[in-house]
Amino acid sequence: MIYGKKPCVRCLLEEAGRQDVSQSVKAAVDKIPDSQKTGEMEYEKRLEICRECEFLTEGTCLKCGCYVELRAARKDSRCPYKTKW
Ligand code: SF4
Repeated sequence: MIYGKKPCVRCLLEEAGRQDVSQSVKAAVDKIPDSQKTGEMEYEKRLEICRECEFLTEGTCLKCGCYVELRAARKDSRCPYKTKW
């Protein structure tokens, strides 16, 4: 059992102190071809919805196990739970 730091709910990776994973996710997002990438405004809108979601914990969606910053970056991707976005 792990004691100490509580998971940061409502946080994306960098805000949760997960800089190592955050860098990897940003690198993966950068590799998505522009034609498949979500527009900047839509991307921010999706992440704001995730920040308010009860299933977000330390940047991970508990409904699908994805890092939301990566999942939201593909324009054809959808929220796995009742299509919040
Ligand atoms: S992808 Fe959907 S279910 Fe997952 S954290 Fe974001 S809003 Fe919530």
